[in-house]
Amino acid sequence: MLHYKRILLKLSGEALAGEDGYGINSAMLERYAEEIKEAREMGAQIALVIGGGNIFRGMSEAAANMDRVQADYMGMLATVINALAFQDALERKGVFTRLQTAIKMEQMAEPFIRRRAVRHLEKGRVVIFGAGTGNPYFTTDTAASLRAIEIEADIIVKGTRVQGVYDSDPEKNSHAEFFADISYQDVIRKNLRVMDMTAITLCSENTLPIVVMNMNEKGNLSRLLRGEKVGSLVHG
Ligand code: UDP
Repeated sequence: MLHYKRILLKLSGEALAGEDGYGINSAMLERYAEEIKEAREMGAQIALVIGGGNIFRGMSEAAANMDRVQADYMGMLATVINALAFQDALERKGVFTRLQTAIKMEQMAEPFIRRRAVRHLEKGRVVIFGAGTGNPYFTTDTAASLRAIEIEADIIVKGTRVQGVYDSDPEKNSHAEFFADISYQDVIRKNLRVMDMTAITLCSENTLPIVVMNMNEKGNLSRLLRGEKVGSLVHG
């Protein structure tokens, strides 16, 4: 029995870079694709949003003198590069996929059409959403929240390098407090870095639960789907 039938998995671009810190690390890509394949074989419907921070970010040093909107478009294109890499990795493993982009690139991908995305999910295809929301001044966390709500996902899973939500960075502070269960309000009040404020607000207003978990721990996604306690749950 699946605990969550339809999920939206959000991975940051940096997760794809792995230890390289930049670009796409093929071992990481394979690892994540394997996790998704396993979850897919359990019967879960999976949508995927990948960031672009490993290639380009609008608010970065490289974009310091640039027009913000121009830089954000570059960031959105970066997410499409990651999405294409992910699509390739999944399909090599025999997982059927569709890529839908928020900005039309019809030779490469379908445009985002909600009903079509849902239909793909029902048919067992992994749907990758590229180009974020298609709008500057947003992030892929917000794109993930928006798409999760639109496709009526049961949950949004934010895959990170740490176990879940802490009151400070556990990679820097060994005494960081871990929250297994926390409300949206507390995340906002304590200014915890789960997702940016726009994304959290969107989840809160639409009562979409968020699980923050370690994506680098093998089998975590499947454990979560089986109903095991994995990571931190953010809810109403
Ligand atoms: N971006 C944007 N609108 C969106 C999503 C992303 O303008 O709806 C741009 C923005 O410049 C952002 C970049 O794409 O910095 C990469 O996305 P993000 O920083 O969310 O990637 P992550 O941190 O998850 O790797």
